[in-house]
Amino acid sequence: MNPLRVGRLGFAGRWAVLGSTLFCSAACQEAVPAPANYPPVIDSLEVFSEAQVREIFDRYPDLFYGMNVSLQHAAAMALHPLMASTSIRRPYPNDPTRAWPRPVDQITNRFYFDYAVEHRRADMGFGAFFITHMEGNPTVCPPADTDIILGYTFGYGPNTVASDPVGRATFLFAEDAAVIANSCGVNAQNTFIGLLTHEMGHQRAGLTHPEEFNYQALYHTGTVPSGRTDIMAQRTPLNVMARWRYPRFDAKQPFPPSLGDESACSYNLFHARPIGP
Ligand SMILES: [Zn+2]
Repeated sequence: MNPLRVGRLGFAGRWAVLGSTLFCSAACQEAVPAPANYPPVIDSLEVFSEAQVREIFDRYPDLFYGMNVSLQHAAAMALHPLMASTSIRRPYPNDPTRAWPRPVDQITNRFYFDYAVEHRRADMGFGAFFITHMEGNPTVCPPADTDIILGYTFGYGPNTVASDPVGRATFLFAEDAAVIANSCGVNAQNTFIGLLTHEMGHQRAGLTHPEEFNYQALYHTGTVPSGRTDIMAQRTPLNVMARWRYPRFDAKQPFPPSLGDESACSYNLFHARPIGP
């Protein structure tokens, strides 16, 4: 059975947009060391895109690298992207101009799950779909504090990874992310890296949002460097997230964590290292 967990978490990545613009400085590109003495565990990431957004892989050449710097720093892990298709079908083949649905209920969750199962291979550990426009997303820089959905991951529970690889998939609304980042005047590549890293945190280790329920007390008790925010935070303003090339998960010392210690994102990522195809 492919587990499809639907319900209370609200799996979509929602990002608040602020109107003001910040520019990245040299300090944004800080070196991020990996945990000492731990060569990374590398798993496969099956990558798909619609033809309309395939240029993002040329336009944002550090997309996967930036994600992997963050994963390696947090838990000595990385994802090796393997391009499966840059011309996946539209969501509604009989209505090709129709946008992707908002993933807000059981029916639309199932829609995305079925789409992933149609495409994903069971021998590839994880999956990412770069798609175009979600219905309801703005097409210009929205007013401050607008909630927008730019990424969506299903099939995980708190610090639990979907058991069947074909049920592991992240969708990034790449057309919307590029339009919004550019019209809001923030760094588009960093925006993509932040969105992908956040969603892969959900998919790779079942990481939660620190704002939800008691997760902050349970799981998000690590720290990030001064001035940074935990990339799993759900409502980081887009212009703050877009300042940084290498997102940070909340982390604690010592490393490696003791068995069963789920008190920080870095620890939960570390405990998910053995999970693959
Ligand atoms: Zn999220």
